[in-house]
Amino acid sequence: MSEAESRALVALACRVMAVAGLFDMHGHISLREGDLTYINGRRSSRVSVTPAQVAVVKVADGTVVSGEPPAETPLHLGCYRARPEVRSVSHFHPLAATAFATVGKPLITAFNAGAPFGKVVPVYDDPDLVRNDEQGRALAKDLKDHRAVLLRGHGVAVVAEDVPRCVTLSLYLEENAKRLAYALTIGEPQPYSDDEIERVAASLWQPFVIEKTWIDAQERARRAGALDDL
Ligand SMILES: [Zn+2]
Repeated sequence: MSEAESRALVALACRVMAVAGLFDMHGHISLREGDLTYINGRRSSRVSVTPAQVAVVKVADGTVVSGEPPAETPLHLGCYRARPEVRSVSHFHPLAATAFATVGKPLITAFNAGAPFGKVVPVYDDPDLVRNDEQGRALAKDLKDHRAVLLRGHGVAVVAEDVPRCVTLSLYLEENAKRLAYALTIGEPQPYSDDEIERVAASLWQPFVIEKTWIDAQERARRAGALDDL
């Protein structure tokens, strides 16, 4: 992917995440391309970030190549360094998923949207911002080989093989948390068994479902007018 394409994709994904209600004034999504990561700039509004406002950072040592990366860029770098297959990372502060880590209740899979995350989403037990390499490493350690990690009192981090998968997983993570929070007000949710998780994930986590979700999220942003100048 060229630099222009990478910048455009990150700007698009950032606006899509904002329109989807996952990003407020905070939140970032990045793309790894070769030795570099592209990430929405720290000052720009998430709903109107332009390709020119996307910052570029070296994965290996965090050197800023262009723009102003967010303070929590080390969170992204920590995930990229620990997980060679990861090519997109999102970090945001969603209401429902963050609430689980805050009250110490496990974000289990009891709805289909949770299946791609396995039995339970791990927790990084430090509410401070992830602003240096040591914290990024610690977060990646708790993330291990999962697709997401909850940051107690703070937010979530999601990792994926590409940007459409990262956006899709970000939506699913909060969707599962919202449904679980609602179910908990009625009764005790029934966790999926290993076999159920495997079967549902196989049905749900398919290229056409990911593409459908990514297209739908883009169309919602387009209808909202958030992509007019992209
Ligand atoms: Zn944060």
